[in-house]
Amino acid sequence: MTIKKIRQILKDTAYSRTGGSPEELKCAEYIASKCEELGVKAEISQFKVDMADLKRAELTVDGTPIACRGYLCCGSGEVEAELYYLRNTDKFSLSECKGKIVMVDGYLGYWTYHDILDNGAVGFITYDGDANYPDRDIDRRELRSYVSEGKKLLGVNINAKDAISIINSGRKNAKISIEQEEYEGESRNVIAELKGDTDEVIVFTAHYDSTFLSQGAYDNMSGSIGLLGIAEHFINRPRRHTLRFIWCGSEERGLLGSKAYTDSLSEDELKKIVLNINLDMIGSIMGRFIACCTCEEKLVYYIEYFASEVGFGISCRQDVYSSDSTPFADKGVPSLSFARLAPHNTATIHNSYDTAKVMSARRTAEDIDFICAFSERMVNAAKCPVDREIPENVKKKIDYYLFREREKK
Ligand SMILES: [Zn+2]
Repeated sequence: MTIKKIRQILKDTAYSRTGGSPEELKCAEYIASKCEELGVKAEISQFKVDMADLKRAELTVDGTPIACRGYLCCGSGEVEAELYYLRNTDKFSLSECKGKIVMVDGYLGYWTYHDILDNGAVGFITYDGDANYPDRDIDRRELRSYVSEGKKLLGVNINAKDAISIINSGRKNAKISIEQEEYEGESRNVIAELKGDTDEVIVFTAHYDSTFLSQGAYDNMSGSIGLLGIAEHFINRPRRHTLRFIWCGSEERGLLGSKAYTDSLSEDELKKIVLNINLDMIGSIMGRFIACCTCEEKLVYYIEYFASEVGFGISCRQDVYSSDSTPFADKGVPSLSFARLAPHNTATIHNSYDTAKVMSARRTAEDIDFICAFSERMVNAAKCPVDREIPENVKKKIDYYLFREREKK
């Protein structure tokens, strides 16, 4: 992939494209057109996602209106109660949630949501952004169905600066009012294939959707460009394995594209997939390159040796990566994710700062070259060397990641 082409794609896709939105469809069509340019046929495959049109969301604290965004899919209505800031999540702190609108730090995950729900919270407030940044951006969040499990609380997201001033002023009473229309919509994966000598398949994945405020240049148009680069690399080269490329939709909404895809496969189709190679965030100006292997540990050492052999800096580990590789591993497919992780003071994600400015087209091209070199070993392996079995310790981590089991802290 040329540096010029990388820059052009980043320019062409400099817009937010949340899962299920018309912009996501526009980007899916763009990626499909880039495949056709390479001479690879691509299809856009739809899957169902929860959607909501937010008509109104208001938060007042002691009568003062606070800028907010209502959570999508958290229901409609009004709730007024004492405001409680959940600083800790010990039993005592949680017991104080009863009958209150609860403010929580960070991201409202499955366990926190159920903790406050089980302890009688009647609404919630999250905050994001960075108090040290000049903007007053507020991200759009959603109450995911696999988090709420049908038990919905009204919730809003606010900027960190307002969260600080609410808590610092000792304000007591909160009122949340939300009106929205919830419906079923569609998101999509873009799928292309390069047939090999056998029908054993290596699946390459990268998500192309972004979060609400983000252009998603780094997270993850970079990986999407990577997939195009890999397709371009292999189109005129020998291939023992069949290569399948999936640009996943709605990853940012909880890996929905890769979950929909792996759920759609029969046992036989799944068995043919010997490996999943996922790209999520490569090519940043700053940062270290990593491989996260959700499979047997031997692959960690192989990649380390291989990288040394070709002269490429990397750190490898066996773990679960928060990306589209996980649903594959959960179905028993050995998976790995490649990423270049930038220090947070040089590039952040899921906000308006994730633009082409944090990217290096040259670095992206070099990262793609390495991934192609590694992939070539796997694609033309006489027999895929990675055990087609997920070790027990990794299965456990997947259970934690997918909230089937709670990790004791
Ligand atoms: Zn990502």
